[in-house]
Amino acid sequence: TWPKWPCFVIVLPFSTIEGVMKKNLIPTIALVGRTNVGKSSLFNRLLERPKAIVSSIAGTTRDRNEGECLWRGKIIRIIDTGGLDGDFEDQIDEDIVNQSEIAMKQADLVLFVVDLHDGAMPQERELAKKFVKLKAPVILVGNKADKHADRLSINAPEWQFPGLNVPIPVSAARGAGVGDLLDVIFDKLKSTGHEPVDPKQTLGTRVAVIGKPNVGKSTLLNSVLGEERFITSPIAHTTREPNDTLVKLGDKQYIFIDTAGMRKSGKVKKAGGLEAAAVRRNQRVIKHADVSLLVVDANSPIGTQEKTLAGVLKDSGSGVIVVVNKWDLVEDKTTNTMNEYRDYMAQSFPFLRWVPFIYVSALTKQRVKNLFPIIDMVQEKRSIIIDQETLDDFLERAMRHHAPKRGKGVKPPKVLGLKQTKSQPPTFQLIIKAKRRDVLSVAYVRYIENQLREKFELTGTPIKMNVQIARSVAN
Ligand code: GDP
Repeated sequence: TWPKWPCFVIVLPFSTIEGVMKKNLIPTIALVGRTNVGKSSLFNRLLERPKAIVSSIAGTTRDRNEGECLWRGKIIRIIDTGGLDGDFEDQIDEDIVNQSEIAMKQADLVLFVVDLHDGAMPQERELAKKFVKLKAPVILVGNKADKHADRLSINAPEWQFPGLNVPIPVSAARGAGVGDLLDVIFDKLKSTGHEPVDPKQTLGTRVAVIGKPNVGKSTLLNSVLGEERFITSPIAHTTREPNDTLVKLGDKQYIFIDTAGMRKSGKVKKAGGLEAAAVRRNQRVIKHADVSLLVVDANSPIGTQEKTLAGVLKDSGSGVIVVVNKWDLVEDKTTNTMNEYRDYMAQSFPFLRWVPFIYVSALTKQRVKNLFPIIDMVQEKRSIIIDQETLDDFLERAMRHHAPKRGKGVKPPKVLGLKQTKSQPPTFQLIIKAKRRDVLSVAYVRYIENQLREKFELTGTPIKMNVQIARSVAN
C-alpha cells in the first residue's frame, strides 16, 4: 500500500549552513549626531507620516528607537542610535563615535545629522573623515533649517566636509524638507543595491499556481483554500490586487496571486482562445511570484505549452516547485514510480534538475498540505545571503578543484573574486581580469553555479550569474 505521507523524492535539509546569514529584507537607516541636533524629532517626523499604514503591516515593530517608514509605496526601517544608550546628559565626544560604530554595523545607510544653527563642531569633522575613510554610505542632513537663511547656510564653507554631500536642509520641528530627504535616501539606497521593499513582500511569500488548462490548478487552489486550518481572505488593504488571496498558516502568511477566476470550480472551458489567455496569465503571475507552483498532470505527456512555461520560469526570478497532480489516477504505482516520473521530467526539462517535486492529488487532497514546508524552504533558499568571507573560501576551493577554463582568447582568464550582488533570487558576480567577458568559458561559469547550488543547497531557486571585468583592467 501507498504510505499516507511519503517523503518528498529529494530529502531537503532544513538546517542553515554555517557562515550563511539571513539579513533583514528591509533596508535600515540609522540616525547619528550630537545631542540636541534634533535626531529624535527627525526620527519622529520620518515615522509620523505613514503611521496609520505602517501599523497595519504585519510583523512590523515600532518602539522608541526603531520604526518603519513608508514612502512612495516602499518601506525602510529607521533606527535612532542616539537613543540606544539611554541617558545622554553628559555627552562626551566619544558618544558620537560610539553611535556611528553601532550605526555602521546595523544600517545600510547612515543619516549624519548636524545642527545648522550651531555650525560644524570638531568631532563632527572627525566623524565625517571617518565615514569617508571607511566608505560608509552616509547622507549629511542639516537640521533646524526653519528659515530661508538657515537653508542658504548649507553652502557655507564650514559644511563642506570632503567626500560628503552638502547638508540636505530639513526642519524636523516644522516637518519641512522631510519628503526631499526621503527621496535622497531612496536614491542612495538604490545606488547601493539595498532597495526599499514593497510592503506586500513582508506580508508573506507570493505564490503563483501555473500550468496549462485542465491540469488541476483550480482544484488544487480550492483544496488549499478549503482546509479549515487556513484562514483565507482577499487582501483587503491592497485594492490594487483584489484578486490575490492571503493564506495564514500558523505564524506564516502566503499570498496566492491572481486567484479570482480560479477559485470558482466547475468553470466552463472553451477550446481555442483560452490557451493563449492561459499563457498570458501564467507569464503575468510568474513575474510577481516568489515561488511558482508548476502544476502538471501525471497522466498526460509534457507538451509544448509546458516547455514554453519552463522557459519563462527559467528566466524569471521566481522559485519553482513542480506539483505533479492527479497522482490518484496513476495506476500500478510502485515505490519507484515517483523516481521514474522525475527522470521523465528531467529529460523533458533539463533545467528542472534543481527543482523539488511533489506528487499530490488535488481532488483527494493527498499530500496537499505538504506543499507549505516546501514553499517555505524554496523561499528561504531564494532569499539567502552568503557573506563575503564564506564566498571567498568557496571560490578558492572551487578553483583549486577546477582551474578557470578559457573561452575566447588564448590565455586562461584570472578569476579575481565572487560577489553576491542581490538576493531573491541569489545573484552573483564573477570578477575576472581580462579585456572581454567571454574569455571565461560559459562552462566554467556554469561549474561555479552548480558548485554554489551544491554547497549552499540552493534547491528550487534560480541563481543568476554575471561575469564582470575588474575595473582597473577595463580602464
Ligand atoms: P485547471 O484548468 O488547471 O484549473 O484545472 P481544474 O482544476 O479545473 O481541473 C480539471 C479537471 O481535473 C477537473 O475535472 C478536476 O476535477 C480534475 N482534477 C483536478 N485535480 C485532480 C486530481 O488530483 N485527481 C483527479 N482524479 N482529478 C483531478
